[in-house]
Amino acid sequence: MSKQSFTTRTYRDDAVVLRTHKLGEADRIITLLTHHHGQLRAVARGVRRTSSKFGARLEPFMVADLQLVKGRSLDIVTQAVAKGSYGDSIAKNYDRYVVAAAMAETAERLTDVDGETSSLQYQLLVGALASLSRGAHAPELILDSYLLRAVSIAGWAPSFDVCARCGEPGPHDAFNASLGGAVCHECRPPGSPAPARQTMYLLACLLSGDWAGADASELAHRREGAGLVAGYVQWHLERTVRSLRLVERV
Ligand SMILES: [Zn+2]
Repeated sequence: MSKQSFTTRTYRDDAVVLRTHKLGEADRIITLLTHHHGQLRAVARGVRRTSSKFGARLEPFMVADLQLVKGRSLDIVTQAVAKGSYGDSIAKNYDRYVVAAAMAETAERLTDVDGETSSLQYQLLVGALASLSRGAHAPELILDSYLLRAVSIAGWAPSFDVCARCGEPGPHDAFNASLGGAVCHECRPPGSPAPARQTMYLLACLLSGDWAGADASELAHRREGAGLVAGYVQWHLERTVRSLRLVERV
C-alpha cells in the first residue's frame, strides 16, 4: 500500500460507542454513532488484550476522537483519544448505566433508519450522556427528555398542549401516541390514556428543556410520564421499521 493511498483511506471523526461485540480472540466490532459520518460499525484490533493501545476508550458510552481507515467491508479504528470520561462514571452506577443503554439503543435504531439527522442525534446523545455522568438530574428524567427530543429530530415531535389532530389550544386531558400526543375531547379515540395535567406539563418541560419545571415534578407524574413516552417511542419506531420492511419487499 503506498503512503498516499493510506492517507486517502484514513479519516477522523468524533464518535460515541453505542455497543460492542467480540470478534475472534482479541478484537471487537464497535457500533459507533459519529458526528459527521452517521452510524457505522468498525473493527478495533487487539482491543481485548490487557496491553491494548485503546485501553478503555472503546467501551460503551465513551466519546472519543477516532482515526479510522476504510476497509473492504468494515472500517478499522487505528487511534482513539478520549473526549469525555462519561463511560466510567456511568458504568459504576447501575441506574445511570440502564439509562445510557436505553439511549444508545434508541440512537442506534433511529440513525440506522435515518442517516440524514445523525449529526443532530450525535449531539443530542453526547449532551445527554454528559448530563447523566454529572448527575445533573434524575436519570429517568434525562432518559425521557432524551427520548422526546430524539423522536422529534426523527420527525415525530409530540404535542403536550394543542390537540395533535385539530390544533385546538390545550391543555387537554387525553393522550394518543398514534395521533401525535395530546388530543381534545372531539378528536380523542376511545381508549386513549387520560394522564394527569401535571404529567402533560412535565413532558412538555422535558421536551422544551425546562429543567426547573421537570426537576420539581412528583414521582407519580414521572412514572406516568415515562409510560407515555415509552409507548410513544415504541409506536413510532415500530411503524418506521415496518414501513421500511414493506419498501424492501417491493
Ligand atoms: Zn382535536
